Amino acid sequence: MDVRRRSEKAVYSSDVFAADEKPLKPHKKQQEEDNLLNIDDALPLPLYLTNGLFFAMFFSVMYFLLSRWREKIRNSTPLHVVTLSELVAIFSLIASVIYLLGFFGIGFVQTFVSRGNNDSWDVEDDENDEQFILKEDSRNHANTLGCVVPPPSARHASMVPPQPVMSIAEKPAPLVTPASSEEDEEIIKCVVQGKMPSYSLESKLGDCKRAASIRKEALQRITGKSLEGLPLEGFNYESILGQCCELPIGYIQIPVGIAGPLLLNGSEYSVPMGTTEGCLVASTNRGCKAIYASGGATAILLRDGMTRAPCVRFGTAKRAAELKFHVEDPIKFETLANVFNQSSRFARLQRIQCAIAGKNLYMRFVCSTGDAMGMNMVSKGVQNVLDYLQNEYPDMDVIGISGNFCSDKKPAAVNWIEGRGKSVVCEAIITEEVVKKVLKTEVAALVELNMLKNLTGSAMAGALGGFNAHASNIVSAVYIATGQDPAQNIESSHCITMMEAVNDGKDLHISVTMPSIEVGTVGGGTQLASQSACLNLLGVKGANREAPGSNARLLATIVAGSVLAGELSLMSAISAGQLVKSHMKYNRSTKDVTKASS
Ligand code: ADP
Repeated sequence: MDVRRRSEKAVYSSDVFAADEKPLKPHKKQQEEDNLLNIDDALPLPLYLTNGLFFAMFFSVMYFLLSRWREKIRNSTPLHVVTLSELVAIFSLIASVIYLLGFFGIGFVQTFVSRGNNDSWDVEDDENDEQFILKEDSRNHANTLGCVVPPPSARHASMVPPQPVMSIAEKPAPLVTPASSEEDEEIIKCVVQGKMPSYSLESKLGDCKRAASIRKEALQRITGKSLEGLPLEGFNYESILGQCCELPIGYIQIPVGIAGPLLLNGSEYSVPMGTTEGCLVASTNRGCKAIYASGGATAILLRDGMTRAPCVRFGTAKRAAELKFHVEDPIKFETLANVFNQSSRFARLQRIQCAIAGKNLYMRFVCSTGDAMGMNMVSKGVQNVLDYLQNEYPDMDVIGISGNFCSDKKPAAVNWIEGRGKSVVCEAIITEEVVKKVLKTEVAALVELNMLKNLTGSAMAGALGGFNAHASNIVSAVYIATGQDPAQNIESSHCITMMEAVNDGKDLHISVTMPSIEVGTVGGGTQLASQSACLNLLGVKGANREAPGSNARLLATIVAGSVLAGELSLMSAISAGQLVKSHMKYNRSTKDVTKASS
């Protein structure tokens, strides 16, 4: 059956939906339900009632007039002699014909007219949100593959009474982006029909860009949702294969702003920040200016060790304790470190910290990882050690290579107290003059605010490592720009900000202490072109050949220095009562958002 006709039929027959409909994802269903309910809400009388009324009127009046006509012929009464009731019937007939023609005729004519225009994805009347949504959804019945997907209107029928509002089906017909070649079109059809797994496209085609393009188009056809704003061109899809992202369909654009120069340990850095939060870069930039004008900041690396903690189980707590004492024995530790370090020329085991829960032992391996953030490296080393220990402890049951005592990408006191990745403290003395002229506040006001907000307020909130104003804002933005793992923002943003009046109360001493900054300059997203460019800007791109690990350590200090700048500026804005004002200026678009949404 023709897809369009089928959809029209579906509008009026809830049985069709029940038989053919695959369950929708809840949010999609809800969205479609909302569309329909909104249209219905706009009408004083439900459409199916008015339609029924006019249909009934049309047929009853027609029946009445025909019977009157037959009677007049039998009685030889002239046809132009009409009674009042016949006159009313004629008017009613005309009225119902006008209504029914208007309602069904326009849609019928439109389908013929619009058929010629539907060879692109363009949404020409995109000023109308509702039309836009409906047209986008109509892509479902747009596919040319013979894969019959009920239109959104049909999907909805089981939830609301059948109504002509479903003439959504009569919106401009299905649109698909033509594939660049017949072969690609065939592959798209296979993916849509489920004959070819989407994940196998790269290996089957040997062309990552083409694979992404086909996957994107197949996804649009399957979901009926346009991905028009998601760019495909201008990205090297080979560079993410097997390392950064699977099943790509494009890439997200995030603007990168620049804050600086950040004067840190005597060197200047322009700090790239990937963000969509207005004010953030401007604010950090102001903090950098204040630091610069006061002679710069100093950062000290306190510790450098990535962690991984497997969970192993024994038959008794005694056996678990025996292994704990084993790994804590300095001589035996040496052997384990040798085994661990085989995993990479950069991995160096520093210590193993143990925690016992009954028969279960958690061993937190801490190791340096050169310029890599180190999760892969440490995991490999841990696996080596577990394999080795298994010989001596055959009753050891390895529950998992990660037992959450690590602790990766989750708020945990162990990282806050023991550190993870790089632990850094960064400080600066901001002169009284700079506090007044650049930061537009007073030293005493800043010190008081820090005590009541970052220390007391966070204590009241039961904070875990959150004794700061907005460290995570800066950490996330720098992580996004430099190809770090943004999920590690959680523990990397642990930070306590301290402020104190010094030099007879005139100047401000500010420091940020960050125990778990997890960064790398090799591996993961750091090798991608744009992220790599940002690392290059900071002078920390790739592996440091002379002193392995020093690029990643320098990056950690820059992160801490940037956080110091961010803390200084935001705290000043709050203490000066400027926060809301500046956000209204930089964080509120003056664009008409209703247009932007269409
Ligand atoms: P991670 O452990 O952070 O996930 P990867 O394992 O992806 O990082 O990347 C680390 C890889 O880079 C390893 O194979 C390592 O041998 C290599 N490498 C080259 N130079 C360095 C360096 N200076 N520091 C760390 N790793 C390096």
